[in-house]
Amino acid sequence: MRKVIPFGRRAVAPNTPRDVKAKCAHRNLRLVEHGGIVMCADCHVTLSPFWALSMLSEQYALAMGHIHRLKSRIQLADARILELSRELDAMSPGEKKPE
Ligand SMILES: [Zn+2]
Repeated sequence: MRKVIPFGRRAVAPNTPRDVKAKCAHRNLRLVEHGGIVMCADCHVTLSPFWALSMLSEQYALAMGHIHRLKSRIQLADARILELSRELDAMSPGEKKPE
């Protein structure tokens, strides 16, 4: 029986500028003062200012959610450290030696 080795899909041609624009999420904004426009610094597409503000607002909300989750984890870790410190303080000196 033959063994089939799977290969990943590879693009035959290099990515064209059109492919790059189609795949770009436009996360790297550039404000062009002359003309007051917003462009993507990665794919150089002119973006709607409303779209840019909406995207930034969405990214800000995601970042704030991430910060909130990290703060919660830090609070849990602090509480656990306090709990373990109290347990350690309650032990007699003989019990504190590592096994
Ligand atoms: Zn882009």
